[in-house]
Amino acid sequence: MNDATATTRVAVIGGGVVGTAVLHALAHRGVDAVLIEACDELALAASGTNSGILHTGFDSTAGELETALILRAAELRPAVLAALDVPVLPVGARLQPRAEGDDAVIAALAENAERNGVDVEIRTTDGALLVPGESVTDPVAFSSALAASAVAAGGSVLLDSAVIGIDRRTDGLRVVLRGGRTIDAEVVVNAAGLHADDIAAMVGDTSFEIFPRKGEFFVFELPGASRLDQILLPVPTKRTKGVLVFPTVDGRVIAGPTACDLVDKGDWSVRSEAAAEILPKAIAQFAELEGLEPVFSYAGLRPAGRGSNYVIGSSSAEPRLINVAAIRSTGLTASLGIADHVAGLLPALGVEPGEPRPTVEAGAPRTATPWWQRTAGRLAARA
Ligand SMILES: Cc1cc2nc3c(=O)[nH]c(=O)nc-3n(C[C@H](O)[C@H](O)[C@H](O)COP(=O)(O)OP(=O)(O)OC[C@H]3O[C@@H](n4cnc5c(N)ncnc54)[C@H](O)[C@@H]3O)c2cc1C
Repeated sequence: MNDATATTRVAVIGGGVVGTAVLHALAHRGVDAVLIEACDELALAASGTNSGILHTGFDSTAGELETALILRAAELRPAVLAALDVPVLPVGARLQPRAEGDDAVIAALAENAERNGVDVEIRTTDGALLVPGESVTDPVAFSSALAASAVAAGGSVLLDSAVIGIDRRTDGLRVVLRGGRTIDAEVVVNAAGLHADDIAAMVGDTSFEIFPRKGEFFVFELPGASRLDQILLPVPTKRTKGVLVFPTVDGRVIAGPTACDLVDKGDWSVRSEAAAEILPKAIAQFAELEGLEPVFSYAGLRPAGRGSNYVIGSSSAEPRLINVAAIRSTGLTASLGIADHVAGLLPALGVEPGEPRPTVEAGAPRTATPWWQRTAGRLAARA
């Protein structure tokens, strides 16, 4: 791919977990595909700054596309994880009732879980809702391993390659990269996260708008032999899913996130008020955090759709552009389901994927710093 113009059947824009999962799905179906990422590493945006939780979908609304793709991903994930060297802690989650009305919310959540076919249990001793299928992973390792496996299966990854334009051609679309290189593709998949609306606008599609919903986190190291061996989820209210406390694959504990709507897609700072918003709620759930100083903080920006969620399908302005946008809060969990769904959209556009082959084994490239430190660390180094 060193020529000024390269050709491929499918170009995937965006190297977050969604783009890497799509590349993985296509490469394992024998489709010639190239992933194009603006940064010099994968998963530096939302996919590297989240909670790293692989949700079961116990609390997702039945009938929605997001829920269907979360549940589909749960079917696909075991075989993929078995082939990839990605750390996962199958610790399960607990929602502890603490306030009046929590028991009723927990009962409703248990019914919802049953509708979605997710195993949960209400503990008879204290009314806590236990969700054994929830787990935590390293979201950067997960994304990187998907890409590495895709490359081993025949896909390509271009880093440091910002897309600055898309031109229509009779036989497809021409993707223009910063610096002048171009890639001709029959179909382009737009998985550009926060900038998916900017990519869609390149073909005149202004049907959706993405804004950043910031989530801030604090990282703790527990003293001595203390550990957290479960994900602690608050009982949700009508307004928010709240602050959770969870263990990481590298032995830390993280509390967060906040939910703060922004305009600036480049503001990855942790606000001074975030500690007051998070810490009392975290300590209420996990008293061991009382008196501990966080060792690190970071912020993630959810690529939220204004009035939309899980915008997946051919663009109304240009069918050869498939938008996979507004994947706000469950993209890590649902990524394999999203990718499977996207592969299913290709035949209508003249690209016939083969039968999916078993995931090619490929170790996740290890990063020098923990995943939760990477994006914030790079931003600090740049400042
Ligand atoms: C605070 C927070 C907590 C979360 N917790 C969880 C959780 O516990 N579990 C879960 O399942 N999900 C969680 N999520 C949601 C999850 O992180 C997102 O749904 C997912 O990361 C979205 O992935 P993406 O690939 O669509 O976007 P991104 O990860 O944002 O990737 C988009 C990529 O596109 C690239 N790009 C943008 N513009 C261009 C361009 N012009 N040219 C080339 N490349 C471009 C970007 O550089 C970026 O790498 C959370 C998110 C946040 C922020």
